[in-house]
Amino acid sequence: MPTYYNENTILYLNGEYVKASEAKIDLYSQSLHYGYAVFEGIRSYKTISGATKIFKEVEHYERLRRSAEAINIGYKWETQELIDATYEILQRNNLQNAYIRPLVFAPANMSFTKNEESFITIEVWEMGKFLGDKLIKVMTSPFERPNPKAFNMEAKAAGHYVNSIVASQDAKAKGYDEALLNDINGFVAEAPGANVFYEKDGKLYTPALGNILPGITRATVIEICHELDIPVEEKFFTTAELKNADAAFFCGTAAEVIGWESLDGVKLKKDWNESVSKVIQDAYKCKVTEKAFEVRAVNV
Ligand code: PMP
Repeated sequence: MPTYYNENTILYLNGEYVKASEAKIDLYSQSLHYGYAVFEGIRSYKTISGATKIFKEVEHYERLRRSAEAINIGYKWETQELIDATYEILQRNNLQNAYIRPLVFAPANMSFTKNEESFITIEVWEMGKFLGDKLIKVMTSPFERPNPKAFNMEAKAAGHYVNSIVASQDAKAKGYDEALLNDINGFVAEAPGANVFYEKDGKLYTPALGNILPGITRATVIEICHELDIPVEEKFFTTAELKNADAAFFCGTAAEVIGWESLDGVKLKKDWNESVSKVIQDAYKCKVTEKAFEVRAVNV
């Protein structure tokens, strides 16, 4: 486990900067009992100029607002105010390359009623790569992503992550690095905490929106494809198609771009270093640190 905080760590709580070791949450909170909260996962990077930059900060805080609104949690904060607060805690904790976790949560309430107030905390810590940096072994999970008619899957709501936790723990217990979950229709959806792309004959494919979290990294990968003239398509597909792919990767704020070695023991066909996906991985690393990226020739 990473060390999330020590006695000097400062977090943001409802407009104030307080010591993490002294901050409190109400044990009667509706969020703790029912998973009724929304959150974000953001990263900041030391850019090539030496400055600290929160990557896609507006997109993340706007998604936090949409997530709260989607499940009826009051949201009274301005995006800019939260961005300023985030830079402030990064500075107070002396962090440049950091993981940033805003969480909007409910007061004490053991019923299912709407609350008059809600709270926000922003926590920052140093975090390495979420899924490591070697190619990973992926397993098709027996768990499906939640039914989008039961949960608004576009909201990054705390309760949804019980599904992520059981699926990820199950894959790891079976000797794999991570799970891949299908949607309720049997099409590939996403990882417990990342989106998925595969590559075939020089073209990239990713599940269409509807049953997945619309990842900000997913959107960034599509943006990079457009910038580099790499064809990309959003569509529904099955794991059978994936097992015939040249390469595949997960992408997310925490995971960044992480290539696969295999799916259910079936190796991906192409050497990762020869793939278009590796070009995307390199371009993503450049983008977050504001480095210009060069396109190198790819053998399709
Ligand atoms: N899907 C799920 C279920 C996630 O938790 C995440 C991480 N937030 C993602 C996809 C990727 O989203 P993003 O690129 O915005 O981090």
